[in-house]
Amino acid sequence: MIPVFDNSYARLPGRFFARQPPVPVAAPRLLAVNHALAARLGLDGDALERPDWVAVFAGNRLPEGAAPLAQAYAGHQFGGWVAQLGDGRALLLGEVVAPDGARFDIQLKGAGPTPFSRRGDGRAWLGPVLREYTLCEAMAALGVPTTRALAAVATGETVWREAGLPGAVLTRVAASHVRVGTFQYFAAREDTEALRLLVDHVIARHYPQAGDAAGLLDAVVAAQARLIAAWMSFGFIHGVMNTDNMAVSGETIDYGPCAFMDDYHPDRVFSSIDQFGRYGYANQPAAALWNLAQFASSLLPLMGGAAAVEPATEAIHRFTPIHEAARLARFRAKIGLATEAAGDGALIERLLALMADQGADFTRVFAGLADGTAAAEFRDPSGFEAWARDWRARSAAEADPVAVMAGANPRYIPRNHRVEEAIVAAVAGDLAPFHRLNGVLARPFDDHPGAEALQAAPRPDQAVRQTFCGT
Ligand code: AMP
Ligand code: MG
Repeated sequence: MIPVFDNSYARLPGRFFARQPPVPVAAPRLLAVNHALAARLGLDGDALERPDWVAVFAGNRLPEGAAPLAQAYAGHQFGGWVAQLGDGRALLLGEVVAPDGARFDIQLKGAGPTPFSRRGDGRAWLGPVLREYTLCEAMAALGVPTTRALAAVATGETVWREAGLPGAVLTRVAASHVRVGTFQYFAAREDTEALRLLVDHVIARHYPQAGDAAGLLDAVVAAQARLIAAWMSFGFIHGVMNTDNMAVSGETIDYGPCAFMDDYHPDRVFSSIDQFGRYGYANQPAAALWNLAQFASSLLPLMGGAAAVEPATEAIHRFTPIHEAARLARFRAKIGLATEAAGDGALIERLLALMADQGADFTRVFAGLADGTAAAEFRDPSGFEAWARDWRARSAAEADPVAVMAGANPRYIPRNHRVEEAIVAAVAGDLAPFHRLNGVLARPFDDHPGAEALQAAPRPDQAVRQTFCGT
């Protein structure tokens, strides 16, 4: 079981990255291997649990064919320009080609310092590693495009943050790690040759139909418009939608201070550093649009310069109709509608407004529509009952609303307090809650008898209202 590495990014010119081997750790110990993902990659999950592979996941051994490197990128962080970011605690080991020809980046996150680390230590601690593992895999199970987690290992070393914490490394798998910020990096340096090579690389890898830079812009706009609609439909808040955290593949990337909402409110923010709610739930489409405008301006030199400003602007503005149509389609399904009628959008917004007003649980209300238990999620159910009468009238024309809802409304999401609980237990040496949570989240639309506690909304004393960057 030797993965076939074919490292297309490493064949780009040297200014795209810094070659950097991982820094070995003291005592690698396996925490998790993702057997389903291993199978997708054409790898044998059992073999990945053996010491030689655990050593790979820890950065202590390089697999044959790997060409480790830290990728260069720049980005806007909360709107402020940073000319050089880059992989400061992550290394691309290389790309593996699955049996069906699909290409995946294999990246170690927390594998030691790189030339881009600047102030950081290049390491990660157990909490963010397990958090990313659980959340990205939950997103994948919900059908949302996302980077994945192949493995997590403990390093046996202490990482210093506010206190000494157990170190860990996550093996992340992605369609690619090229970000909007990768384009910005070369655009800011007026390196048009590098931009052209990057466009060709991304088109070949993700959007073979795109043809040229203008086609690539269209494709990325559409992919992001649909991605954000998926986030909205599951109450997901990314939390740090900086341009360096937006993958041009259209996958969700960078699970730092992200969270799934419990009680619904459009202004909900979890990230401790998002003081002004720039990346709050309802602001996510606008934040994506802002990032795409940065992407478009990076591409301008390849689109004809100043003359391309108008078509590029039009391309960006196609985001909103694509996003709104995708969002409406997803929320229609959430209330069981397979057909389209003029008042559907208003009906959905009315329900959301009631939920916000009453602090109703996002996931439980939608799951409860099919079960007839949604009213119980409202402090005062009378508003909901009135809404439900109109909803039932609208649903009368539908063939099988329950089946439509079953595929759109998860019963289980990675609730913040349960994720935190699993991390606390893992730090104390007990991985059982982490594995149990992941097991349920792997089939989020199903019933899991005995797992009611994972389905319940947090009591006020359990609720976790703040999340932190994953450093
Ligand atoms: P993020 O907030 O995860 O998007 O990270 C922003 C930038 O900070 C990226 O360039 C990271 O590589 C870098 N960074 C984050 N944590 C660390 C760390 N522990 N050591 C070095 N660099 C880091
Ligand atoms: Mg990042």
